Amino acid sequence: MLPPVRCFTCGAPLGHLWEEYVERVNNGEDPERVLDSLGVTRYCCRRMLLTSVTYIEEVSKYYTLRAKRLWGEL
Ligand SMILES: [Zn+2]
Repeated sequence: MLPPVRCFTCGAPLGHLWEEYVERVNNGEDPERVLDSLGVTRYCCRRMLLTSVTYIEEVSKYYTLRAKRLWGEL
């Protein structure tokens, strides 16, 4: 699953927000509030990122694997 690069509905670019969004949600912030602070106000765009939350766990696994390869087993 690739991060959403653009909103399917209105075409607004979202790809540059994805990493920060994932990181902050992973750190326990409320997804709705992260979207507010990133300036994602249109419902169609919010939905794009909100429905991607289910993939965050996969992304985290990927980052963990990559970190292990870079720095060895922790
Ligand atoms: Zn949109």
